[in-house]
Amino acid sequence: MQRIRGRAASGGIVFGKIKFYRPDELVIKKHKVQNPELELQRYHYAKELSKKDLDELYEREISKIGKDHAEIFFIHRMLIDDNGFEQKVVSAITEESLNAEYAVHRAAAEIASGLGRAEDDYIRARTADVLDIAGRLIRHIQNKPEQKMEFDKNTILCSYDLEPSETIRVDKTRVKAICTCYGSTTSHTSILARTMGIPSLTGLGKGLTEEYDGCEAIVDGFAGILYIEPDNATKRRMIEKREEEGRKRELLSRLRGRRNITLDGYEIDLYANISGLTDLKYVEENDAGGIGLLRSEFLYLQNDDFPDEELQFYTYRRVLEKMKGKRVVVRTLDIGEDKNPDFIVGEQENPAMGMRSIRLFFERPDLFRTQMRALYRASMYGRLAILFPLIVDPEEIAAIKAMICDVWEEMDSEGIEYSKDVELGVMIETPAAVMLSDELAREVDFFNVGTNDLEQYVLAIDRNDVRLERYCRNHHLAVLRMIKAAADAIHRYGKWIGICGELAGNAELTEVFMDMGIDMLSVSPAKILPMRRKIRSLTIGDRREKLVEKGICPPADDEEAHRYYMGYSKNRRYGE
Ligand code: PEP
Ligand code: MG
Repeated sequence: MQRIRGRAASGGIVFGKIKFYRPDELVIKKHKVQNPELELQRYHYAKELSKKDLDELYEREISKIGKDHAEIFFIHRMLIDDNGFEQKVVSAITEESLNAEYAVHRAAAEIASGLGRAEDDYIRARTADVLDIAGRLIRHIQNKPEQKMEFDKNTILCSYDLEPSETIRVDKTRVKAICTCYGSTTSHTSILARTMGIPSLTGLGKGLTEEYDGCEAIVDGFAGILYIEPDNATKRRMIEKREEEGRKRELLSRLRGRRNITLDGYEIDLYANISGLTDLKYVEENDAGGIGLLRSEFLYLQNDDFPDEELQFYTYRRVLEKMKGKRVVVRTLDIGEDKNPDFIVGEQENPAMGMRSIRLFFERPDLFRTQMRALYRASMYGRLAILFPLIVDPEEIAAIKAMICDVWEEMDSEGIEYSKDVELGVMIETPAAVMLSDELAREVDFFNVGTNDLEQYVLAIDRNDVRLERYCRNHHLAVLRMIKAAADAIHRYGKWIGICGELAGNAELTEVFMDMGIDMLSVSPAKILPMRRKIRSLTIGDRREKLVEKGICPPADDEEAHRYYMGYSKNRRYGE
């Protein structure tokens, strides 16, 4: 028996036979052409055929996997029209007299290499989309038919990597699992596998080779393990695990439609963090009460140019419509640190503390204007809240509001409809925002705590350096006290506070956050039902006393508070 460990991209346990799939290699030769005009025509013709394919695929897949996930073809359709991509292709043909397929290949490779350098898994995963589109265009330029994706029953489909358009063509009644050597859990291929309910492993590395074609195998999509030619003991263990997981899923699914309420009646909102339209299915599947963080930067990072107002409007509108009146918190462009496409900020000495997030808006008000116009246009379609990242000063809020007023004026003069009933909030992710939380609370409608950055700045820990992970203790009192201080400040104004950083999904802290009176926790969709189960098993009791006991806040009485700060045990209830 061989045991290969990868990353669990889609849960489930499957027994089957490996089929190692290799896509046809496209041969792309570079040569100079005599007639660039003709070459341009070949390119444009291929582009039209590709768009037609994608339209058809989109329509067909809507009925198969639902609108949200068929959306990938709609996005591909838009990417084909992307100005940056088109310009690269056209200039290679007209200025360098290159052949059309090579011009497409080079343009895609350049864009993909920019995306591939991103630290963020999600953005890196977008390279597959760019290459997928290029492959489609080149097939049409070369007049080559699409490769068939036909497999036997009970196939475990293995490949070095799979394109989203290949994944979508897989027949789910035959292909029981998908395993790839490369790729990430946030690639569209993984996302599609999850949507289609196909167990999937990714990142299996060089251990998975074509020599296993035809072997019996078991995929454990929970643990991220592929067993090749499993022994009897492993088979028995996997059968038991499959039964156990089925029972757990059944129990969790009964929590859909239930409240996030403790045994003694304290309630909290559980929302979802998403990065794009394709995540909406999970939001619904896991019964999220809203979207607590839509990281809008994904729109910027899958293109090599800024997305225009239409693309942004379309995306926000779809999310709002889909959420049917539930709150949707869209965070404005938050790039410049790890999420930094070259074309925006360029090299920085210390990007975490550099030209990032809201600061970019003050540098590039044109970007802000486009995003605000798209957001306010979309505000007509649901319950929108806009969130501003990396705020350190209430004056920034005043400047943002002034800019928003300009946008309103402009939209009024153009007769564009929008709603002013949009909540404005700030990320609490810097020590300055905590220290000024009273002043900020006056200016905004809500706070959302970004614990990923807050921990980075409070504990002086580079969040992207794995070696420092052990210093980032989840229960660090400094961070917890800061969250409590921000919660108290915003509550004094009768407004609400959420947490949307990774700490929000830490089950060990759920009770502490409820003790603090946090109104909303925003987590990855899959965490919602397990957290609901946890909340429904809690009894909150005397919140303040528990926080005092943990050292998160001082006793209410002045004299006691003084003694507390003078060194009485923070772990013992005062007076014991
Ligand atoms: C955070 O900082 O906690 C946060 C939610 O934002 P991001 O991880 O995108 O910086
Ligand atoms: Mg952040």
